[in-house]
Amino acid sequence: MLSHDARLALPDWVGAEIDATAVYRDDEARMALAVRLSALNVERGTGGPFGAAVFDAQGRLLAVGVNRVVPETSSIAHAEMMAYLLAQKHTGRARLNDGHPGITLAASGQPCCMCYGATFWAGIDTLLIGASSADVMELTDFDEGPLPADWRGELERRGIAVREGVLREAAREVLSRYAAGGGIHY
Ligand SMILES: [Zn+2]
Repeated sequence: MLSHDARLALPDWVGAEIDATAVYRDDEARMALAVRLSALNVERGTGGPFGAAVFDAQGRLLAVGVNRVVPETSSIAHAEMMAYLLAQKHTGRARLNDGHPGITLAASGQPCCMCYGATFWAGIDTLLIGASSADVMELTDFDEGPLPADWRGELERRGIAVREGVLREAAREVLSRYAAGGGIHY
């Protein structure tokens, strides 16, 4: 019998750790949440060292995500994909900024080739990146996959503003800690 249904879920601790009613007013506050999620995911052993969060124009949370590839047995369960999936479910909008401009994704690590592709269709206006792809591949054995040489320009030409290096050192620190702990390849 083939499977007809699939579900992906965040770890149980997320609800207790996240203040879903807070307003995250600037890029640093938004990234701090994504990095904190990445750190907690490593500490709790619930997935790989990546966190992400989606915010509306006022800085209210629409969803968070952490890497769940191994626990959920799913290659698509990256932090950004989890955050998009849950934000789309929460808002009822397949394109998050449809009629609601000003959507931001904060990702503790630069989106891999899959999450990069998903970012074009998710309907965000701003992408905040913590650690770069080079950081991820320097500090861990994760493969970011093939990205276009002008990956940033391709986003910007489609109206997605990109800010790199937001709380980069804090994001790198989580990757280093993960690698020092054995770097189980989620
Ligand atoms: Zn990814």
